[in-house]
Amino acid sequence: MSTPNSFASPASVCDNCGKTPSTSTSSSPKLQLSKCSRCKAKWYCSEACQIADWDAHRPACKRPNYILQFNLVPDIIRDPAVFRTLSVPATTTFAKLHNALQVAFGWANTHGYDFAWADPAYDSDENEALDREGFLECFEDATFWGFRKFVLRLREKDKLGVHNPDTMGGHVNRTHPETKEKSTEHTKLFKILDDKEYSDLEMEYMYDFGDNWRHDIIRKGRAPPTSHIVCLDGRGHGVAQDATITGWEALKEAYRSPSPNEEQRDNIYWYENEAMNGDSNGLGGGGPRARVGYK
Ligand SMILES: [Zn+2]
Ligand SMILES: [Zn+2]
Repeated sequence: MSTPNSFASPASVCDNCGKTPSTSTSSSPKLQLSKCSRCKAKWYCSEACQIADWDAHRPACKRPNYILQFNLVPDIIRDPAVFRTLSVPATTTFAKLHNALQVAFGWANTHGYDFAWADPAYDSDENEALDREGFLECFEDATFWGFRKFVLRLREKDKLGVHNPDTMGGHVNRTHPETKEKSTEHTKLFKILDDKEYSDLEMEYMYDFGDNWRHDIIRKGRAPPTSHIVCLDGRGHGVAQDATITGWEALKEAYRSPSPNEEQRDNIYWYENEAMNGDSNGLGGGGPRARVGYK
C-alpha cells in the first residue's frame, strides 16, 4: 500500500493548459498552481482554466476518502493494542461509520455511542474535584453543569439534547448546554472533518457509556475515493464488550496463565460460551486457552 499522503500529487503542470509553475520575472508574473478544492487531485493555473476543464473533470471530481485510525482505550489496552484503520468515503454519515466500526471491532451494536470533539480548555482534575464535592448533577434540571468537556458531539438523532439514561454513570458532563450537538444520521464526514473549527481538536468515538469503550481517532491522511468503507489495517482480537476494560485485561491474563485459578476458568468459560460477542475458539484462534494472539 502506498503511504496515505502520497495520494495528493505535488503540482507540476496545469491540468487544463499545461503551464508549469514559475517564479516572477520582469516579463511575466509568478505562476502558481492551485488544487481543485473538492477532489484535491487536479491542479490549475487559474480560475479560467478550472472552469474550462470543469465539464470534462466533473464526473471524476470526488472528495478523497479519509484514512482514520481508531485506537481502543490505548492508555490501558496495550498488550496487544487493539486498533483498526479505515478508509472512509467523505460523504459517509457518522451513523454509517458507527456501523462499520461495530463490524471492524467485533462489537455487538447493543449500546449507545457518540463521536465527540474535545474542548482543549477542559481540565479533568478541576471537574472531578467539583464532582467529588457533589456539585454536579446528572438530571435534566441540573443548574450547574461543570466544565464543558466537548466542543461538539454527534449523537443518535433521538438522543439529541436529552440525557440518555446510558450517560448517567459517571458521564454528567458528556452532555452540556454549551456543547454543540448534531445527529450522526444527518452529518457527513467531510462536513466536520473539513471544518477548520474542529481540525485541531482531539476526536473520539465512544461506545457503551457504561463500560466506556473509547476509541481515539487519529487522522492518517487522505486516499482515493471508494464507494464503500474499506478496512486497511488492524491489530488485536476484538474485545468482549461486557467484560469491562479491566475485565478484558484479566481475561488475557487467564488465557496466559499456565494454571488458571477457578475465577480465571470461569472467565474463560464465560468468554467462549456466554459473552454476547465472545469467541468460542477463545483468544488466539487456536482453541481454548491458546496464547493471546493477534488478529
Ligand atoms: Zn492553465
Ligand atoms: Zn476536482
